[in-house]
Amino acid sequence: MKVSLLDDEVLRHLPQPSSTNTCTCAVGACTAWESITEDRWPAAQMQALGTLRDPDIYEPTFEEHHPSGTRYDSADAPVSAKHFPYNRCDVFRCGPCGRVLMCYTEFGGYYVDHRVRELRASLVVNPASADSE
Ligand SMILES: [Zn+2]
Repeated sequence: MKVSLLDDEVLRHLPQPSSTNTCTCAVGACTAWESITEDRWPAAQMQALGTLRDPDIYEPTFEEHHPSGTRYDSADAPVSAKHFPYNRCDVFRCGPCGRVLMCYTEFGGYYVDHRVRELRASLVVNPASADSE
């Protein structure tokens, strides 16, 4: 199956559930990046929407985008498809609640760590255009 490459435009227009507070998925609220073990990932109810990882880029940047003083794990950190860690995320929709979830795997020396964050369309930015002023 071909995985489609998503960008900020697509992310911003993905249908979102009207309320984000009703979800009971095993991954939890994850408004900010959350570390989850593989057995908490409800694979059976997740529909793959695509990836943010550009196959033409060998090593995506580790640079993060925080123009307003947010940090990696801020709940209101902007979502920039070209910045870390969004640039290595796969995007899924949870069947039962309709939420869009982004996830990637953090590789440490002796561990792999799965991280999940819920997508909120209002946080999606495209700094390529913002930076050019
Ligand atoms: Zn759910």
